[in-house]
Amino acid sequence: MRGRAPRRVVDGATPPWAYDPLVPVFICPNCRERTVDVDGYEGFTTNVPQCRNCGFGFLFQLLEDYYPAPSTGFVVCDQDARVLAVGRGVFELTGFREPDLIGRDVGTALNLSDTAPLELVREWGVRRLGEQLELRTRAGLVKPVVVDLFPAYDDDGGLLVALSSRS
Ligand SMILES: [Zn+2]
Repeated sequence: MRGRAPRRVVDGATPPWAYDPLVPVFICPNCRERTVDVDGYEGFTTNVPQCRNCGFGFLFQLLEDYYPAPSTGFVVCDQDARVLAVGRGVFELTGFREPDLIGRDVGTALNLSDTAPLELVREWGVRRLGEQLELRTRAGLVKPVVVDLFPAYDDDGGLLVALSSRS
């Protein structure tokens, strides 16, 4: 797991349960707080709890653990890749605030250099990590980013787009 995305390891101590692929992981699209459902107390995915860290209204379920970088910004999209919510860090990366992006096709709104990975995630329901893409900021600057994409596992579909800067 860690070997796959070494750039994203930000915590020094990985709890032992992080290696168990059967333990559901939830991540807050706003503050990036990970919640590992270790005791099953909140294990009903139909009633996903809000974030205990920042109070954001829902958490995104991941089938495998994921460690976002401190600068990673999340964009939550519906099944048509339209933006539903924008987390912290996206403004710093893109210059766009949530009202600029809500309801827009994420690939178009951010002018992503390649939207094929988005289509693959939506079509096949698998995550894609480390896509080396470029986006265009609100100011019109082309910015290189690493994009990680995660499919939603609820009935509504959708996907989570994680944007991180790269030099
Ligand atoms: Zn949160």
